[in-house]
Amino acid sequence: MKIEKIVKPFYDGLAEHKLLGRKCKECGAIEYPPRYACNTCGYHETEWVELSGKGVLHSIILPSTLNADPWNASLGDYAYGLVELEEGPMFNCTVFGINKRSAKKLRPLLPLPVHPLFADKDGVTVVFFEIDKVEGIK
Ligand SMILES: [Zn+2]
Repeated sequence: MKIEKIVKPFYDGLAEHKLLGRKCKECGAIEYPPRYACNTCGYHETEWVELSGKGVLHSIILPSTLNADPWNASLGDYAYGLVELEEGPMFNCTVFGINKRSAKKLRPLLPLPVHPLFADKDGVTVVFFEIDKVEGIK
């Protein structure tokens, strides 16, 4: 099944702390999170590429009572935001290292560099992002 072909190698990569995306054989666009077909040109053939994990954060949305995630909170302060990887993909995700207090100081400094944060959830490695430390802001 196509879905399994994408899901298993992706999680195998995460277990080795590697971030994998799919590169379009036609236009070279990189898909992350990986999908089978190219989202940019619609071509059906893409191949695995390892991504650097380096990117920038474009927005900060603090969790509210409605979308707060207790498991995330157990790992540390977090927010949601739009991440753009240096290879091109943009997506919304959970970003650690941000709290209500620091968000105020960080917002005017956006975009800010982020790096991947690998965590173990019920025996499966999952990936989040974490903001690089900014001098003087906690
Ligand atoms: Zn393409």
